[in-house]
Amino acid sequence: PGAESGDGSRSRGEADSKLRPRRMDEMVGQRDVIERLKIAIDAAQSRGEPLGHILFDGPPGLGKTTFATVIPAEMNTSVQMANGAGLRAPKDLLPYLTNVSEGSVLFIDEIHRVPKSVEEYLYTAMEDYRIDVVLGDGVNARTLNLELKPFTLIGATTRAGMLSAPLRDRFQIREHLGWYTRDELAEIVHRNAAKLAIKVDELSANVIADRSRSTPRLANNRLLWVRDYAQSKAKGKVSEKVTCAALDMIGIDSLGLDKQDRNYLDTLMRVFLGGPAGLDAIAHTMNVSGDTLEDEVEPFLLRSELLVRTRRGRLATPGAYEHMQRPMPD
Ligand code: ADP
Repeated sequence: PGAESGDGSRSRGEADSKLRPRRMDEMVGQRDVIERLKIAIDAAQSRGEPLGHILFDGPPGLGKTTFATVIPAEMNTSVQMANGAGLRAPKDLLPYLTNVSEGSVLFIDEIHRVPKSVEEYLYTAMEDYRIDVVLGDGVNARTLNLELKPFTLIGATTRAGMLSAPLRDRFQIREHLGWYTRDELAEIVHRNAAKLAIKVDELSANVIADRSRSTPRLANNRLLWVRDYAQSKAKGKVSEKVTCAALDMIGIDSLGLDKQDRNYLDTLMRVFLGGPAGLDAIAHTMNVSGDTLEDEVEPFLLRSELLVRTRRGRLATPGAYEHMQRPMPD
């Protein structure tokens, strides 16, 4: 499942690979982040030094990986892509570090998932472009000092708060990626409709923008589904009506919430009487992982003021009851 099936799910797929901007100028929004990065890139290049390490944080689908691909493109250098979840032991990290070429970029997505034992290697790698590898054990243990090429580490995380202070402090540049406005999302839809060679009018683009939870990845996924739907049901013609029908069919509502988002609110209201309820309890009841809820569902509900997090747990707001058309309990 994923973007290809148009079911509105958040997995990566066609949308990400085909529609991802290749250069910084193709990116929409995040103007202040882009301005600061351009200055940092300029300065590093004129000094002939590698760019400082960069940490991006923010909810999924807002452009962290995109930045990690356009930055090396601006600098005419190569990038290696790794995922924190795959770096379970130091030996998983070593090939990446020894492969870095001078001034190149190593991107670690989900860097909060890097275990402590691997994280310690990053410290010297980031600070001194050096790692100390211990070979053998006991009395035979020897330490091998490996020099690395000066490089730039780009880390991405949905959970900046989970990063240890020593790791966080080694990033010279830290950028938080925020939500996109309706106009920015509509602009992304227009640009990507052109890439896909389909016609999408203003009204249809606005519907997609309104129903994409302020997230470019979702705007792309919705656009691909609308394209498929229009092809099969409307002779390829995308109109406001066709767009609404297409999104209704996969359960994307007027706020852009999908089935899982509504299931979350429904569970909180029905089973926990609106809360406060603990994340784990909600996750167990829904039979999904707490991490998924915290990363992918809650951020937008919080930002839309449908949900609040209190010390005692998650609480549905009056706005949530209204949106879900449920009566507020006394
Ligand atoms: P993240 O790494 O934060 O989860 P991505 O960088 O993978 O998010 O973004 C998901 C998709 O959204 C990309 O493939 C790209 O097509 C689109 N996208 C993200 N940010 C932008 C942007 N600023 N302008 C245009 N498209 C974007």
